[in-house]
Amino acid sequence: MMKERIGIFGGTFNPIHRGHLKAAEVVQRRLRLEKVLFIPSYIPPHKESSEIASPFHRLKMVELALASYAQFIPSSIEIDTKGKSYSILTLKKIKELFPKAMIFFILGIDAFLEIDTWREYQKVLNQCYFVVISRPGYSLKDAKKVLEGRYQKRMVEISESEEVRDNTLLSFKIFLFPSISLDVASTEIRERIKRGDSIKGMVSEAVESYIYQKNIYRDKNG
Ligand code: ATP
Repeated sequence: MMKERIGIFGGTFNPIHRGHLKAAEVVQRRLRLEKVLFIPSYIPPHKESSEIASPFHRLKMVELALASYAQFIPSSIEIDTKGKSYSILTLKKIKELFPKAMIFFILGIDAFLEIDTWREYQKVLNQCYFVVISRPGYSLKDAKKVLEGRYQKRMVEISESEEVRDNTLLSFKIFLFPSISLDVASTEIRERIKRGDSIKGMVSEAVESYIYQKNIYRDKNG
């Protein structure tokens, strides 16, 4: 029997936007993932500001955005832990929840380029598949130089519309997905809200309404 395939997609999701959704949709289809867990990171309350919405709001927005996707699941696993969100700990918990599944760690290239700052990153790389998504302003070629090129041999570029073949899954690979990303970032969304500019189309409608209704990302002093 084929093993279940599960994607895990972590982030601040401050707020979750169409770029996240589009990337997850493509990855889910091409890798035939049964589900993708969206895992907002915990950020301690003292860091909360008009810049970082509370874990409660960020999780709520993830739930709203994913409501129409049967295979995308919001997960409060990091928020419930209330400690610093280390990928190695999250991965361990996911493996306990899904002991037989193949786990695919989904992230943008900007996040992947910082992997040398992660706690026990070698363990993370040795315990699951990686899926690195391009983002505007970055070249996927830079991924190959990460960690002095030591992981280059594991990297497999997936060309446009290509499906990942099962025989590439025999060992832990790092898949590189080019040109599937939208030019949307949470930073720009927050800036637009502050300026009073429209964010239409950048986030789902339910998320947009929630942001205005709860008055999130407005400069609380201004
Ligand atoms: P910010 O602008 O605040 O830094 P962000 O838009 O990068 O936020 P995060 O929540 O930090 O969003 O991102 C979570 C994950 O999603 C990261 O791995 C990031 O690289 C990836 N990601 C974010 N935006 C996109 C996008 N437009 N296309 C593909 N991947 C994305």
